Amino acid sequence: MSLLRRQAGGVASVLSVAWERTLDLVFPRRCVGCGVFGAFLCAACLSATPRAQPPRCPGCWMPVLSPQRLALGESPAGGPAAAELCERCRTRRPAFKAALCPFVYAGAAREAVHALKYDGLSAIAATMAEAMAVCLSEWRPPVTALVPVPLAGRRRRSRGYNQSELLARELSRLCGLPVDGGLLVRRTATPAQARAADEAARRANVEGVFAARPKAEPAGALLLVDDVMTSGATLDACARALVAAGLGPVYALSFARED
Ligand SMILES: [Zn+2]
Ligand SMILES: [Zn+2]
Repeated sequence: MSLLRRQAGGVASVLSVAWERTLDLVFPRRCVGCGVFGAFLCAACLSATPRAQPPRCPGCWMPVLSPQRLALGESPAGGPAAAELCERCRTRRPAFKAALCPFVYAGAAREAVHALKYDGLSAIAATMAEAMAVCLSEWRPPVTALVPVPLAGRRRRSRGYNQSELLARELSRLCGLPVDGGLLVRRTATPAQARAADEAARRANVEGVFAARPKAEPAGALLLVDDVMTSGATLDACARALVAAGLGPVYALSFARED
């Protein structure tokens, strides 16, 4: 049943409310975590999913384990001071000022990403964006627009949609910030990040892949939106392209963080 719904959902790249209601009648919503009917992510699974809580590096939101930094964890809004950053960010500062994610990429959060990305369950984006909207309202970076991480044309065609764009559109509906989908372009497809072994390889993978269209008037601070943040190399490359085009400052929000 669930698989049929996913396939039916994947067929329609742009789901209307009416179409969603029809799907609800024919293939009821099931939780991707436990299979219970009624929601794509039930309240029990959501509360059992590990949160990406502080203490974390305010630059890249990686967990910070050293005892002297355990006291940190204040809001990174406005960009972190260099002293608070993790070792990695201090060595090589990402082009985005700060990143945040509500969940760790595990449990039901991982199932949700898989359903959205690989099973064609585009409708789960609304549920995922709700958690991101709560995170954003507490964080409050001074951003004026949402910029989804672009997907390679080939991948977008085979999936039927860009999952980051779906998340950005749902987030926009909830927070009121506009989506600037045409600001960033992806020049080429890259090998899947999961297959790139170390951080240097991940960075090399996305080097020069993104380009930003310069704007006639200043665009203000931007929020990059993605589904999963792994090493942060993709978000970094996107932010670099935006900054190189004279845009930004750039912040980043993902649904989940791979620790
Ligand atoms: Zn559940
Ligand atoms: Zn860091």
